[in-house]
Amino acid sequence: MSQLQTVRGTRDLFQDANQRHRFIETTASRVVELYGFEEIQTPILEPAGLFKRGLGDTSDIVSKQMYLFKDLGGDELVLRPEGTAGVARAFIQEGMSQLTPLKLFYRGPMFRYERPQKGRYRQFHQFGVELLGVEKPQADLEVLACGYRILKELGVLGSITLHLNTIGDEASRAAYRDKLVGYLNTRKSELSQDSLWRLENNPLRILDSKDPGDKNVVASAPKLSDSLTPEAKAFFDAVLIGLKALEIPFIIDDNLVRGLDYYCHTVFEFTTDALGSQNAVLAGGRYDGLIKDLGGPQTPGVGWAFGIDRLAELLPDLPASPEPIAIVPLGDEAEQAAILLSEKLRSAGLKTDIGYSGNLAKRMKRADKIGARAAVIIGSNELTAGVAQVKWLKTGTQESIALSELSNRLLDTDN
Ligand code: ATP
Ligand code: MG
Repeated sequence: MSQLQTVRGTRDLFQDANQRHRFIETTASRVVELYGFEEIQTPILEPAGLFKRGLGDTSDIVSKQMYLFKDLGGDELVLRPEGTAGVARAFIQEGMSQLTPLKLFYRGPMFRYERPQKGRYRQFHQFGVELLGVEKPQADLEVLACGYRILKELGVLGSITLHLNTIGDEASRAAYRDKLVGYLNTRKSELSQDSLWRLENNPLRILDSKDPGDKNVVASAPKLSDSLTPEAKAFFDAVLIGLKALEIPFIIDDNLVRGLDYYCHTVFEFTTDALGSQNAVLAGGRYDGLIKDLGGPQTPGVGWAFGIDRLAELLPDLPASPEPIAIVPLGDEAEQAAILLSEKLRSAGLKTDIGYSGNLAKRMKRADKIGARAAVIIGSNELTAGVAQVKWLKTGTQESIALSELSNRLLDTDN
């Protein structure tokens, strides 16, 4: 029988990765709470229709990346590929439109069937925010400032650049689509197979194609910025002025369009040059039509999500976790006492380890192996005298300490 393994593109995460994930989530939660975001948890399982309607049939996610299946009752379900649609569904389902402006954040696993490689997994983790019910560019600025602050606090800004664009309002895009399609039709023979399909179904997507032939065609394409309505232009200008005032550096990228139907106006990506081709770490934009498209009341929104796994790979080394105290009991009586003593030390906030078995030498070896700061040795003589022998493992010195003094002495990390 072949050995059971993780599903392709999924991973077991161990201590180091989990510490990084936890550090990222704790930092991000603290920062978003400074902005007034509150946590929402939506189910991992959602009805397939949510993403088909919300993200659009021609998006990469819906057309080729969804974990889509029928459950035993015959319902079409997906393992959620992203977080925004679920938040929008909850907003509609719970009738939350009275609560706007509403700020929500979420975190958790997402699932996309794509080619696994470094920084790209089939189960990965996102942390995201959604600011609902605000039409003004101030909302875009606030979510951008919030994302920027998280990256700054995580110490990763050094390798990161904010790329920004506007895809305008409906009217801007309609006008642009005609111009773009007219142009692309004159250079059809140079387009990739994928882009020929996009030309029929979602021509704007050709702008951010990675194919070299497509890129060459796109280089001479009409610019979306020349088709903006005055309102759309004013909206984007307000975002840019705000970013300058906030001293958040950015690059305008004419060809950034993002892959999902729900976006309008501001779209952005914080990218890194430190992770090879998997370079997007935090991405998002405005989605004024999404909630209405899903059957809810017209409600503008803007948000982003970052990939926790990718950020974890960028993160500088974390501060070392506290070194444990090793309890080394000798003899049956001391073994019993060791449990109580360990609990007492843990109550004082000391990370405490009991080796469970072996003679003195074996237990001292384990204390070394786990990087213990001190070994607390107790035998029946010590118990009778109400003391422990403490060996400070960095210096190798040993002293006898009264049990009543023990936690205080061990808390003093100068030793
Ligand atoms: P990419 O261009 O890398 O495919 P995307 O545009 O599909 O990214 P979004 O849908 O905007 O990504 O998701 C937000 C963030 O989630 C990304 O910037 C990235 O950090 C992370 N992410 C997306 N897909 C994956 C994946 N398969 N594995 C790991 N992280 C991912
Ligand atoms: Mg993708």
